[in-house]
Amino acid sequence: MAKYTDAKCRQCRREGCKLFLKGERCTSGKCAIDRRPVVPGQHGAARKKVTEYGLQLREKQKVRRAYGMLERQFENLYEEAVRSKQQTGFALLQMLELRLDNVAYRMGIGSSRAEARQRVGQNHLTVNGKKVNIPSYRVKVGDVIAVKESSQNLEMFKALKELKIVTPKWIEFNTETLTGKILALPERDDIDLNIKENLIVEYYSR
Ligand code: SF4
Repeated sequence: MAKYTDAKCRQCRREGCKLFLKGERCTSGKCAIDRRPVVPGQHGAARKKVTEYGLQLREKQKVRRAYGMLERQFENLYEEAVRSKQQTGFALLQMLELRLDNVAYRMGIGSSRAEARQRVGQNHLTVNGKKVNIPSYRVKVGDVIAVKESSQNLEMFKALKELKIVTPKWIEFNTETLTGKILALPERDDIDLNIKENLIVEYYSR
């Protein structure tokens, strides 16, 4: 499967903000954005003037990278957002949030979206009692997402039972049973990255 291999911290430095791609490291003193917040490359620190197009491009790249998506996948999702009845930018963000890998991340099943995606791909999760190993699977209100019973004794999930996990208000997660439920659709203020989705819409509307 195709994937981006660009060093994760380099992606954050390129976008000029934390994208939280490396789990615990992102909130430790080792975060590259905290230590060296300049654009990578020889002339990184010297780059100054950003055009309107540049701003739109960077916003699109920031969101795409934060959710770990390939260009084509992101474009397809955007096209789906355009066809939706909601405001396009918000529809795009909502669909990103409803991906199974993101929901698993929000539940603490991975310390980053990449780790959560791996756990989905390794067949550790069920949705409404059925195994689902597709990271892009879109969950719905009322869906029950769980770590499957035969995986619950693995060290990585046993450790999860000891953690205090704060989920967004649209998700409920029980660390005893490692089972969660989608309570509602995410609202705009549930999406914690600082995103200007209007710039993404402008980028694709050129
Ligand atoms: Fe690296 Fe995480 Fe910091 Fe980004 S937020 S620079 S991935 S440590």
